[in-house]
Amino acid sequence: MLALTELTFDNRFVRELPGDGSGDNTPRQVYGACYSYVTPKITTSAQLLSSSPEVAELIGLDPAAASGETFTRVFSGNQLLSGMQSYAMCYGGHQFGNWAGQLGDGRAINLGEVAHKAQHWTLQLKGSGPTPYSRHADGLAVLRSSVREYLCSEAMHHLGVPTTRALSLSLTGDQVLRDMFYDGHPEYEPGAVVCRVARSFVRFGSFEIFASRGEHELLKQLADFTLKADFPELLAGRESSPEVYVEWFAEVAARTARTIAHWMRVGFVHGVMNTDNLSIIGDTIDYGPYGWLEGYDPEWTPNTTDAQHKRYGYGAQPNIGLWNLVRLANAIYPLVGEAKPLEEALKVYGETFAQCRAADMAAKLGFAAYKNSDGELIESLLELLTQTETDMTIFFRQLAQVDISLQADQLSEAEQLAPLMAAYYQAPSHKVITATCEWLSAYRKRSQQSLQDSGESNADRQRRMNAVNPKYVLRNYLSQQVTERVEQGELGAVDELLEVLRHPYDEQPEFERFAQKRPEWARAKPGCST
Ligand code: AMP
Ligand code: MG
Ligand code: MG
Repeated sequence: MLALTELTFDNRFVRELPGDGSGDNTPRQVYGACYSYVTPKITTSAQLLSSSPEVAELIGLDPAAASGETFTRVFSGNQLLSGMQSYAMCYGGHQFGNWAGQLGDGRAINLGEVAHKAQHWTLQLKGSGPTPYSRHADGLAVLRSSVREYLCSEAMHHLGVPTTRALSLSLTGDQVLRDMFYDGHPEYEPGAVVCRVARSFVRFGSFEIFASRGEHELLKQLADFTLKADFPELLAGRESSPEVYVEWFAEVAARTARTIAHWMRVGFVHGVMNTDNLSIIGDTIDYGPYGWLEGYDPEWTPNTTDAQHKRYGYGAQPNIGLWNLVRLANAIYPLVGEAKPLEEALKVYGETFAQCRAADMAAKLGFAAYKNSDGELIESLLELLTQTETDMTIFFRQLAQVDISLQADQLSEAEQLAPLMAAYYQAPSHKVITATCEWLSAYRKRSQQSLQDSGESNADRQRRMNAVNPKYVLRNYLSQQVTERVEQGELGAVDELLEVLRHPYDEQPEFERFAQKRPEWARAKPGCST
């Protein structure tokens, strides 16, 4: 484990790809370049709120060195370490179904790539000032959105979901004006910076921008770089070729499907699945107005600007993944030259998603394996969950507590439902109670059959369920409470919740309060991306 100044940087992205060398951050269209050199903004008085020990280790840094003055200065954008090279990436994207042209890192600045154990990790500050891609905005981030990004990145990782990571969260000491109006007055909020960490921050939109401009040489350069850096097993000594690009596309499709299947499993709603927010390596990226399903509702979206169309609602996510992959296929078409092989490769998406989904649902219900006949049982449960506002996380977690050895006639309806009552936001109607008890009968039968077929015990079943049905997820109100506590000077609030979220599948009796249903006051307070 290394000290901060011992980290080794190997900045392949800027070394191997063309950049825009002017260094100024005037908003502009950047042509012929994958990135622009920029310098993070100096802050008034940086203060470290939290750092993640696992992410420190990931980049080779001694977790004990992930604090202190130099660490804080570097990861709030006030000092570059020797070997760092700061830049903002150029990309475009389809936003809400429409081509939006150049977007780019408007409030993210990469510090370079740390090379550790044959792996490169790009370090990226979010909220450290304007870049050529900031358009009309300030390049800054507020504490509220930074707490959300920091905690969710790590929560998702510990839930087993591919994601960008977060090394640190710092206050900048600057006040940031957000166009949120309370009582007609503009609101200032504390500024903050998160240091994100990922193998790659390249997005679908990184390819779309060059395709849209007819910059096909650049498109090829970025594709070849990505293959070499992030998909070396696909190249396996070969030169890139149309065939290799198609295999790569199929792999991106598979990864996207797996990641979205995880979102569905844990009840995560990304909220802005624009093509600039889809990672080429399949990570979950850009934690803006995301949310977690509380009441199970396939249409629910945390994004207030999407409240009408619900394009990015929970249940829409698998289809949007496909839609975005079609945009990526169009973007890389010039490298392949025919549509047929890309269309074929696209099938991998649906197949992979269906497989993951079936396996996940079987595991969530505790079955040793998925059977085709389970489809109906699953569908009827999901339908039932929409009938009364039912907390998805609590329901599945508590389902493991249902005693499957009993027969329905040995129990009253109230006794059958007892383990699940904690999941309901309102008392279920008589109709829902009866239907749920009927479902539970079928469920007990199927569960017993699964134990017989597999030779497993009920404890095995419960273990399987508890390994995929989290107890702790980052409910919106929890982030909100942490932000408020920090604003009131309780700086340890972030670390406390982070520690709980590092073990989302464990029972943590002393932190039971973080596993509770959303309180009524927190209803309909959607997350905010700014
Ligand atoms: P998002 O919807 O958060 O993925 O952002 C879409 C685009 O807007 C990206 O190019 C972002 O970098 C940019 N952006 C978002 N917020 C800001 C901000 N406060 N300052 C500058 N650019 C921003
Ligand atoms: Mg984004
Ligand atoms: Mg964003």
